[in-house]
Parts: sequence; structure tokens; C-alpha cells
Amino acid sequence: QAKAAGRNAFCLFSPALQEVIDTRSSLEAALRHGLNRAEFQLYYQPQFSLDHGLIGAEALLRWSPGQHPSVSPAVFIPVAEESGLILRLGQWVMHSACEQLVRWAQQPLTRDLKIAINVSARQFHRPDFAARVRSALEATGANPSRLQLELTESVVLEKVGEVVERMQQIRQLGVTFSLDDFGTGFSSLSYLKQLPLDQIKIDQSFVHDLMSSGNDAAIVRAIVAIGRSLGLQVIAEGVETQDQLVYLTSMDCRVFQGYLLGRPVPMRDWQSAWHNWQQPETPQGKVG
Ligand code: C2E
Ligand code: MG
Ligand code: MG
Ligand code: MG
Repeated sequence: QAKAAGRNAFCLFSPALQEVIDTRSSLEAALRHGLNRAEFQLYYQPQFSLDHGLIGAEALLRWSPGQHPSVSPAVFIPVAEESGLILRLGQWVMHSACEQLVRWAQQPLTRDLKIAINVSARQFHRPDFAARVRSALEATGANPSRLQLELTESVVLEKVGEVVERMQQIRQLGVTFSLDDFGTGFSSLSYLKQLPLDQIKIDQSFVHDLMSSGNDAAIVRAIVAIGRSLGLQVIAEGVETQDQLVYLTSMDCRVFQGYLLGRPVPMRDWQSAWHNWQQPETPQGKVG
């Protein structure tokens, strides 16, 4: 019986996966094998704004070794980072997301949607990262303004000057940036004023305890206020309940992502899932 991976509800280390790992001698070898065997795919989780409805999706990596159930990225991303495999994996993610943007661009209903991808520190700090972004866009023909890169504070922890310069290079292409898991790192505020960001993402841990913890509510309120006064879009991730949504809205947060609104789905299920998504509404009623 597979061990469930907490709130993400897929398996961390099933006996079957353990078997795969044993025969391949390490998780790293299994990952490498998986890259060559197309065992990875992207799931897409919708993002909604009160003002514009569905605005896009975050691409989230899934790995299904052989016939086994998905392994959580929380397990394999750290291994991929340590081994350097994240470079190939990240490159694959970027290309796949760009190809998806091109398919979306051909349909009126999806033409304006953006896709956010997660970029790991190791990937971002490669000297040729900006060139790789450019060539992924050029090779696929994706509209750069539809691509958003999510960085975590660990990416920007050192050499802020170099990070800023690289971000500016990439932004000149038209690509936008989001700061993921905001509030969980250090020195958040001093980075915020320096980094050329478009969006900050309130970490889901604050959203999770929003209704029960006055401290978390205070932090969320402060993040929204700071982000908005710096002219950044503020998105709350991990929104699971209507109460959280209403509370966040009352704090002037206007963009959301979470199971309440839509779970991550493979693109083949996107259209059927679409019909079940409930647009967020302001307490006063439906917006735009
Ligand atoms: P993240 O970027 O902060 O992504 C949000 C995570 O929260 C995702 O987990 C998503 O499935 C989950 N989530 C979304 N809504 C809810 C909700 O309402 N409740 C709860 N409890 N969870 C929710 P996932 O897909 O397991 O990804 C975990 C982390 O793995 C990501 O965190 C990201 O840091 C990393 N990751 C995923 N895909 C990639 C990738 O392509 N490249 C890199 N470098 N990292 C990735
Ligand atoms: Mg993310
Ligand atoms: Mg996050
Ligand atoms: Mg996270």
C-alpha cells in the first residue's frame, strides 16, 4: 500500500517506487532514466483574478516512473537539484510550457492566458540562463509576455546585483517574474525593493492558517499592502476554502490559486475541468 504524501495526496515512496529505485541503484539514476523515457509531464493549475477571471496557470512537474503513481516534486526536485539533473529537467519544463502557450495562442478562449513555471536556483544561476529562455521562446514561437518565471527567495539570497541584472535581461524579452513562497525566506523586504518583479505569491502556509491564526492573518494583510503599494500583483496560493477566499478578498488580495478554485490537471483534462471551476466572486457579487 502506497504511503500518502500528506496534503498533496499522491505517493511519496510507494513500495513499487522503492523497487524502481533499488533496481536503478538510486533515485538519481531513476530520474535520469525517467528523463530519457519521457516519464515526466506537466500538470496545470488555474489562476483566477477577481477582475479578469481565469488569467493563466502554474505548470507543476509530475513524475510517474514506469506504471507507478506520481512521485511528489517535493521528493525529486531536491535530488534533481543536487545532481544537476534539474538543468535538463528545467529545460524540458520551459520548452513544454512554451509549446503549450503556442497551442493556447491559437484559440480565442485561451489566447491571453499566461503560464508560470518554477525555476530552481541552480537553473537560474547558470550563466546561460537568459539565453536559454530566449531560445526556448524563439524555438517555439511563444509570446514572451505570456511566460512567467517563479523564483523563490533562495534564488535571490546571494549576489542580488547579479540577480537583478539577469532578471532585467530576461524582462527585456517581455517575460514576467513572480516571487514564490513569499514570506518564508529571509530579508524579504530588502529584496522586494530591489528586484524587478511583477508578482508576489503569498506562501500557502499563511493562507492555510488564515482563519485560525491572528498572526498569519496579520502577515497576509501586511504582504498584500506592501505588494500593492509597490505596484506588484499579489496572488494567494493554496486557497482551499470559501472562508479563506472571502477573507483574502476583504484584505484586498485579488488573485488566487488553490484547490478551491481548481486542482492541477494534465492538459488533456484542462477543458473538462474548466467547466467545474468556480470563478471567485467578491462578497458584493460577481465581478466582470
Ligand atoms: P510551489 O511552486 O509553491 O507550488 C505550489 C504547490 O502547492 C504545488 O505542489 C501545488 O500542487 C500545491 N497546491 C496548489 N493548490 C493547493 C491547495 O489548495 N492546497 C494545498 N495543500 N496545496 C496546493 P506540487 O505540485 O507538489 O509542487 C511542490 C513544489 O515543487 C512546488 O511548490 C515547486 O517548488 C516545486 N516544483 C514543481 N514543479 C516544478 C518544476 O517544474 N521546476 C522546479 N524547479 N520546481 C518545481
Ligand atoms: Mg510555484
Ligand atoms: Mg509556492
Ligand atoms: Mg512551495
